[in-house]
Amino acid sequence: APRLNSAGLDLTDPVAFPAMSKSRAAFQTTQWHAEPLFTSPSGGEVDPKGRVRGPSVNLSNPADPSDRLGTVTNATPDDVASAISAATNSTWLQTPVNTRAELLRATADLYEANRPELFALLAREAGKTWADAVAEVREAVDFLRYYAAEAERQTLGAARGPIAAISPWNFPLAIFTGQIAAALVAGNPVLAKPAPQTPLIAFRAVQLMHQAGIPTDAVQLLPGAGEVGTALTSNAAISGVVFTGSLPTARKIDCVMAEHLAPTVPLIAETGGLNAMVVDSTALPEQAVRDILASAFQSAGQRCSALRVLYVQEDAAERTIEMLKGAMDELSLGNPWDLSTDIGPVIDEAARAKIQAHIDTYEKNGNLIHRLKTPGRGTFVAPAVLRIGGIADLAEEIFGPVLHIATFKADELGAVVAAINASGYGLTFGLHTRISSRVRQLSNTVRAGNIYVNRNQIGAVVGSQPFGGGGLSGTGPKAGGPHYLPRFTLGLGHAETA
Ligand code: GLU
Repeated sequence: APRLNSAGLDLTDPVAFPAMSKSRAAFQTTQWHAEPLFTSPSGGEVDPKGRVRGPSVNLSNPADPSDRLGTVTNATPDDVASAISAATNSTWLQTPVNTRAELLRATADLYEANRPELFALLAREAGKTWADAVAEVREAVDFLRYYAAEAERQTLGAARGPIAAISPWNFPLAIFTGQIAAALVAGNPVLAKPAPQTPLIAFRAVQLMHQAGIPTDAVQLLPGAGEVGTALTSNAAISGVVFTGSLPTARKIDCVMAEHLAPTVPLIAETGGLNAMVVDSTALPEQAVRDILASAFQSAGQRCSALRVLYVQEDAAERTIEMLKGAMDELSLGNPWDLSTDIGPVIDEAARAKIQAHIDTYEKNGNLIHRLKTPGRGTFVAPAVLRIGGIADLAEEIFGPVLHIATFKADELGAVVAAINASGYGLTFGLHTRISSRVRQLSNTVRAGNIYVNRNQIGAVVGSQPFGGGGLSGTGPKAGGPHYLPRFTLGLGHAETA
């Protein structure tokens, strides 16, 4: 049968949704614990009592600090060393590709069977709304099934060897799983380091992979902060690094790899964006506003694809901004556990303080256009719209629910495109226009990995919208597309079957 993307869950279904909501309720007060999952170099399970344990850290819900989630024990340098040597000796490289693909599919089935718990973890640990949580589990499942199908369809080269997978908190299940699935199905043992903010969901995901039958030495989990990442990316036994996260971290990884690893060891990095959207005066305002809202504020703006700078044509600016304010006022901010919540918290206090300071500076300078109210508890940032001269005024990506708006005159579109390209980033670009020659012209001149016309610019779909950019936004190849797997192998492989 042909591969199909996951059906997800219809939140308006009068039977399926309440049933799912009831199953999820069983995890409303669950206390989880995460710890390193690795095998000793000799292949046996490591007895957790017989070794020195890393520091234990408490975790709580970003929407509600009184909601404790449990604890994580981080990996020690010894754990990292043991895991790397177990990976080096793993027989995973000899496992036939069809078996590897089957194990990915079995994992996908287990993810779907465990959706209530995964939804609970996504809400409580990562602040994901129902809509975001559903989309995230779908994407994770799609990555597993898509890479399984691609590995069978393509003629891949030989595996590289142990791959370090370093993943972000903003897609703690989907990107975490996508990185691991790609590296694994191409035949590489994986050492996964989840973001320090979201180790619990990563731990459950790896448990499900092991339960599906993926050997414990083929995928090992090493929770921790930057030191664990550095221990991995500086170890000469590592044959590749796949990373999604911030540009400064990508630069650090690049430096560490350059110093310690062979120059042929690849870094596959997906970093940030200063993503723009152009709305011209032929755009349909209602549609543009709906798509601006989703692009800038869904997931509290914590997507690297999110809209940061809106360029609206001067003669459409007033009506677009008025409508946008009205639509923003309808958004509800709150605990993502509740179905009525549109926008949840940002991930932690450090993120909140940084984003809020940015908004406050603009407000002080008289450039606050609109802002919602912040709920009392939790690390919330109220969505804000700020006036800006142009993209060049932003020194870096602001990773939160903040939209900057600039205007342009009819004869300034060329300069707008030049400014967008000059930012050096190139991840997503949105365009709202009814002029088809403009669609062609801008799609050919704006340097961005993913260009969206007359729709929102987030939520790339695995298998049909490969996702990734260039320049400061990443190395490519795009995730969820046919060129991703060959990068995890030696030799080029073939993207097409003979
Ligand atoms: N793939 C996601 C999207 O299309 C963004 C991934 C990210 O934020 O890293 O919205």
